[in-house]
Amino acid sequence: MSRQQVRGNPRMRRGLGSRTSDPTTMMEDPPSGDWLTLRSDQFLKWVDDAVYNIAEQTGIRDVVNRVTRPIFNWALRYSPWPLHFGIMCCALEMGAAGGPDHDSERMGVVYRSSPRQCDILIVNGPVCEKLRPKLKTLYEQMADPKWVIAMGECAIGGGPYWDSYSVVAGADTFIPVDVYIPGCPVRPEALMHGFLTLQKKIREQEPGYFLRR
Ligand code: SF4
Repeated sequence: MSRQQVRGNPRMRRGLGSRTSDPTTMMEDPPSGDWLTLRSDQFLKWVDDAVYNIAEQTGIRDVVNRVTRPIFNWALRYSPWPLHFGIMCCALEMGAAGGPDHDSERMGVVYRSSPRQCDILIVNGPVCEKLRPKLKTLYEQMADPKWVIAMGECAIGGGPYWDSYSVVAGADTFIPVDVYIPGCPVRPEALMHGFLTLQKKIREQEPGYFLRR
């Protein structure tokens, strides 16, 4: 549809006008009937109402879950994508694990730069008070299901900086941690073992399913 046609349509003009003139208002005030677009949370609610509730009421949900769970679980296990995010020295070991000597990619471990494409957050250094909210935001931006690896003493409990006023006493004080890898620094082999441990945990949890509830 051309812009001219949109301008000529009062319903669409209202939607476009609200979006472009005051985006803050759009974020704070839920749109009513005349909007062309949905925010992500509104879209998820719409999908919930339109698909999930009906599937639950009719019993389709359990059938789909049973059929898709092994497939999703297999795919999740063998394509753990960590966020390419480095904090301190352990991040160098993380890089070494992905290099040609250890080649973590042969296990399906592919580093991505956007949290929206990742399902593993590796905390690989001390988390200072200033970094904590940013790291939590990165974690929240990752889609479910997701996991966290605390790599090294700093991520587990503050490490050599455990009594510093500015260092958080472990990643698990503000995000859930699934695998702890001790060491200072953590060897690349230990990180590889951490990936295998996580794969085992994913297999046991069976988080892969088509319908989320
Ligand atoms: S655990 Fe040791 S090597 Fe790893 S980030 Fe902390 S100080 Fe550096």
